[in-house]
Amino acid sequence: MRIIKSASKVNTEILPRDCVIIRVMKILYDEKICVRCLACVGESEFGGVTYERGQLHFDEARPEDWESLAAICPVAAIKISRDDSEVD
Ligand code: SF4
Repeated sequence: MRIIKSASKVNTEILPRDCVIIRVMKILYDEKICVRCLACVGESEFGGVTYERGQLHFDEARPEDWESLAAICPVAAIKISRDDSEVD
């Protein structure tokens, strides 16, 4: 799979015993298999996915339900990559 778009979002969560979980989320979009059905644009509630001049644009800073957006894609052109790590 050739990754055309890669974006990331970092969330942190402080736990009771002085350790922090760092969650890094990446949105991976494969333009080569995208059929431009625009289902993801229609499902986007907060402008996280837009379509302009024949191109899809992803703004990972928007509070979308990214898992649902990835799941709605009929050809699996959107994937979510997560990396959780714990820091003391
Ligand atoms: S739902 Fe999938 S195939 Fe349809 S426009 Fe979005 S990324 Fe492309």
